[in-house]
Amino acid sequence: MRLRHIKGAEDQIAQSPFVIQDPERNRGSWDQVFGNHNPLEIEVGMGKGKFIMDLAAANPEINYLGIERYSSVLLRALQKRSELELPNIFFLRIDAKEMADYFAKGEVSKIYLNFSDPWPKDRHAKRRLTSPGFLEVYDHILAPDGVIEFKTDNRELFEYSLESIPASGWKLQMSTFDLHHSQFLDGNVMTEYETKFVSEGKPICKLIAYR
Ligand code: SAM
Repeated sequence: MRLRHIKGAEDQIAQSPFVIQDPERNRGSWDQVFGNHNPLEIEVGMGKGKFIMDLAAANPEINYLGIERYSSVLLRALQKRSELELPNIFFLRIDAKEMADYFAKGEVSKIYLNFSDPWPKDRHAKRRLTSPGFLEVYDHILAPDGVIEFKTDNRELFEYSLESIPASGWKLQMSTFDLHHSQFLDGNVMTEYETKFVSEGKPICKLIAYR
C-alpha cells in the first residue's frame, strides 16, 4: 500500500504519542515502554493497522507493535488509533529490514506478515518479507519458541514462501491454500486487505512457521 504523500504527515507522526520516536533506544527494553513483562508481538507492514488494533483490543495481556514504512499510510492508522483507549499498542515508522537495530535477540514472541507486497520480479526477490535475508532478521529477534504467521492472497508469493521458509531452517506448523474453507479459520482476525479479497471470493493462503 502506498498512498499519495500527505503534507505534514512526518510532523504529525513525530508528535504522536502512539508512535515510538527513536525506537533504537528501546532495543532490549520494550518491557519498560509497556510497563509490564507481557509477550511482544509485531505486525510487519501493518498498513492502516486494523488487524493489529483489533488484536490489541482483544488481548490486553499481550503487547503489540505495528511496523509501517510509509508515513502517509501510518497516518491513517493514527487516525483510527486516536479513537481507541489501548495501553498495549504502539507503532514504529521503520523499514522492516532494520528490525535487528530495534529488537534484541529473542525479544519478540510472534511476527505477523499480512498481505505483504509480492515483488513478483526475480530481481526484487530480496524485498519479499519471506526472503532469506528477512528470515535471518526474524530468527534473531524471535524467542526460541516464537513463530511467524503469514497470510496472503498471492499464490506465487505463498509458493515461494513454502520453499524459502523451510530452506532457511524453519518448520511449518500449518499451511493452507484456502484459509476460509479450512479447519484453521477459528479465531482468525481479518486484516483490511483480507476483508477486501474475501469479499471478492479470492482464496487466502496462510502458514505458521517455527524453528
Ligand atoms: N497488513 C495490511 C493488511 O493486510 O491489510 C496491509 C497490507 S499492504 C499490501 C502491505 C504494507 O506493508 C504496506 O503498507 C507497505 O508499506 C508495508 N511494507 C512493505 N514492506 C515493508 C517493509 N520492508 N517495512 C515496513 N513496512 C513494509
